[in-house]
Amino acid sequence: MLHAAELIRRKRDGERIPADELSDLILEYARGNVPDYQMAAFCMAVYFRGLDVAETFALTDAMIRSGETIDLHGAIGRKVVDKHSTGGVGDKTSLAVGPIVAACGVPFGKMSGRGLGHTGGTLDKLESIPGFRVELSTEQFLEQVRDVGLAIIGQSANLVPADKLLYGLRDVTATVDNVSLIAASIMSKKIAAGADAIVLDVKVGDGAFMKTIGNARELAELMLELGRHAGREVACVLTDMDQPLGHAVGNALEIRETIATLRGDGPPDFTELVLGACAHLLAFSDLGIDERTGRERAAAAVQNGSALAMYERWIAAQGGDPAEDALPSAAVVRDVTAPQAGFVGAIGAVEVGLAALRLGAGRRTKDDHIDHAVGVVCFKKRGDAVDAGETIAQVHARDDESAARAADDVLAAYTFADAAPVARPIVLETIG
Ligand code: URA
Repeated sequence: MLHAAELIRRKRDGERIPADELSDLILEYARGNVPDYQMAAFCMAVYFRGLDVAETFALTDAMIRSGETIDLHGAIGRKVVDKHSTGGVGDKTSLAVGPIVAACGVPFGKMSGRGLGHTGGTLDKLESIPGFRVELSTEQFLEQVRDVGLAIIGQSANLVPADKLLYGLRDVTATVDNVSLIAASIMSKKIAAGADAIVLDVKVGDGAFMKTIGNARELAELMLELGRHAGREVACVLTDMDQPLGHAVGNALEIRETIATLRGDGPPDFTELVLGACAHLLAFSDLGIDERTGRERAAAAVQNGSALAMYERWIAAQGGDPAEDALPSAAVVRDVTAPQAGFVGAIGAVEVGLAALRLGAGRRTKDDHIDHAVGVVCFKKRGDAVDAGETIAQVHARDDESAARAADDVLAAYTFADAAPVARPIVLETIG
């Protein structure tokens, strides 16, 4: 018989919780038999005391067992690949990676989430495309991965329901940023969604959950162990989130940047990250190629137009209008100019993310309405030379007042220097 208060006390006092008891706690919580206040206390005890690897395995496993699991491999009859990012500002990587990988002949099936806080969500970006449907049944999802080679949809309600409840609770009880809880949350969803091979993009820096490379490594290694334990192939790329990724931050603006990237005109950092992720995924696939060949094929799919054609096919298959000019545009576009000549020393990713959020690109509460047209475009990135008065960024807003405020916020996010800062690659490290 589960005694939740007793488990909370034991974890609070630093004890290891055996797998069967941890499992009972999670499954009973998902069934509504453990109240939120006890689960919140348990999460706080975990936050301070941590979970060891065996406990994290048990937690992840119980979370997976709280709902349905999808046998992607069985349903598609081929090896299916997936990617996941821990979340960042301007992160539209999956939207470009999916069409490239599928254009190379490898099925890509992904269930995504919405944005919360200063980071945007893949589903919100996709919903800026008129007509696009993110809610497909599991059957429709599998059919589309089979027929088109690519589907990205919202997470089915029945997939890891324990995480839905737990994540909501952690979000309001200051218990999100614990490595074991994050790893279990991400990997339970990835494993339940059924891909054979997963590339995990662990963001590091000011705009990410993991502020230091050491913390990011710890999370990456734990997620690798969880994936391998479940029989999945996993690689982690640790990538820079000390400035926004690419130029665009905001839903329709990021879709435009995705289309430009699929045409071969994307920002260098974003293009590099996308091609690197594609190379890993193609090397994991059943094509029997190595990473170098994977990268060459990914680059060729962009160059020969097949990646963009796959994007259009995918968007149309989910009911959307793939034409770029069908995307919503903001009523007011305002330039942000450099106050001095020199170099961009830094761009605060959180500040830019929050400026986009205040413009209406994200949600402050779960029920907020999103304005898909608004956002920020950072033309000048860290290390770029600027002249006094040169346009460094642009704000897309619904009115003059919010545009003026956002322009101030974006300018405040920029730091200028007399010399270019030391260059930092977008991919900091690869593990696995
Ligand atoms: N993303 C998730 O899905 N879960 C976490 O706990 C943190 C980031």
